[in-house]
Amino acid sequence: MLGIARGFVHFCGMPYFPLYDNASFYCLECGTPLGYGRHDRKFCSAACKNRYHNARRYPGLDKTVARVLRILESNREVLSKLVRMGIHDIDRLTLQHLGFRAEYSTSFRLVSRRHQVYTCFDYTYELTPSRVRHISWISPEEEAQREGAGKKKK
Ligand SMILES: [Zn+2]
Repeated sequence: MLGIARGFVHFCGMPYFPLYDNASFYCLECGTPLGYGRHDRKFCSAACKNRYHNARRYPGLDKTVARVLRILESNREVLSKLVRMGIHDIDRLTLQHLGFRAEYSTSFRLVSRRHQVYTCFDYTYELTPSRVRHISWISPEEEAQREGAGKKKK
């Protein structure tokens, strides 16, 4: 009973529907009731307004992230299999046939013009125009050392 009494506004004996029943009185992003603000108000905050517009500006973002992650995971699987088989050096065409997509990596470091070091999560490899060399696994300890070394330089 109390809820109904609060929701309905009686004015001169005429029952008015509660303001919150109107869709425009809820934040379009998070659904928070906007209360008795301006009639054209659509969002509870600037953050919600930005989130709402960004989601519409980049509608495929989540799908893109998922797609790239799948490719990277598949690349990592290929590298991991090669290392387990004791293969650390392979020509790029063979690797491509195994489903590896060299244009996707998680980091890249140019040592010299012909010496490019890439990583795919916890695997590292060097790319030459024709071969993939020095494929190896980076242990978490090594990873931490690299991170530390990278931070010291800054
Ligand atoms: Zn909101």
